[in-house]
Amino acid sequence: LPLKEKALIRRIAAQAAGRHAALLTGIGDDCAVLRLPPRHDALITTDFSLEGVHFRRDWHPAASVGHRCLARGLSDIAAMGGRPLAALLSLALPRQVPQAWVDAFFRGFLRLARQFGVALAGGDIAQSPSGVLADIVVLGAVPTRRALRRCGARPGDFIYVTGKLGRAVAALELLRSGRKLRPRAHPAHFFPVPRLEVGRALRERRLASAAIDISDGLSTDLSHICDESGVGAVLLADKIPHPAGVPLEFALHGGDDYELLFTATPRSRVPPAIAGVPIARIGEITAAPGLWLMSSNGRRSRLNSKGWEHF
Ligand SMILES: [Mg+2]
Repeated sequence: LPLKEKALIRRIAAQAAGRHAALLTGIGDDCAVLRLPPRHDALITTDFSLEGVHFRRDWHPAASVGHRCLARGLSDIAAMGGRPLAALLSLALPRQVPQAWVDAFFRGFLRLARQFGVALAGGDIAQSPSGVLADIVVLGAVPTRRALRRCGARPGDFIYVTGKLGRAVAALELLRSGRKLRPRAHPAHFFPVPRLEVGRALRERRLASAAIDISDGLSTDLSHICDESGVGAVLLADKIPHPAGVPLEFALHGGDDYELLFTATPRSRVPPAIAGVPIARIGEITAAPGLWLMSSNGRRSRLNSKGWEHF
């Protein structure tokens, strides 16, 4: 049986202990006290991780659930070009979840937090009537008025994406078909790494006119940039990076990749890789609204933005 709330919080606080420049007061008071670096704006984002919606306990090891929970929030900070400082986690656990599951959840969560210097600054624990429910809040900082936004794409801008797309949903489809997967063999699904260095470099070098992270799928997240910027887009089918064996459909519509999608004016010198992550040019922003996919023979077809149905 899981520990009582007080004992559990003490245990989490001990595991989360460590020095963080931004964190003046962490777990154990009514509020966390955080200090933003001077001349920075605060970034704040929140995401649910719900059992049966975002993960399944029979498919995802607890360490992966904890990792992915934080990765969702960190990826949003990356998309804004920010640096993550601290996270707050509210966790509701059904009575029958063993303590070992909770420990492994925090192992996965805190390993990723340490990797990016993020403090677990507080949260809440409750009993859930059914299913594990986790709600993450991540606080980050970005130099004043320098946050990357979704609204800056202009006609003629090129469209870029980091890494390769479709791997997370490819693993999900294998799980759905009944396959058992070794998490270490499918890190893009079980342990995605948010593109914080790339986001920061895009902001520092002023390369991007607009940016978003790919959480819902390329077609859906590109439509968010287009909606916010009042533009349309054409994607080149044969330029969209996806690993051999992963269908283009997965790369176009599969979510949970946590790569970055951004636009840049044709004058921007976008390098072929940033921080070791390959960058691919995949299309162009148009004045006319709507999303189009151009095949290698030059045929254009409408690109519908559809997310991937999870479980
Ligand atoms: Mg996002």
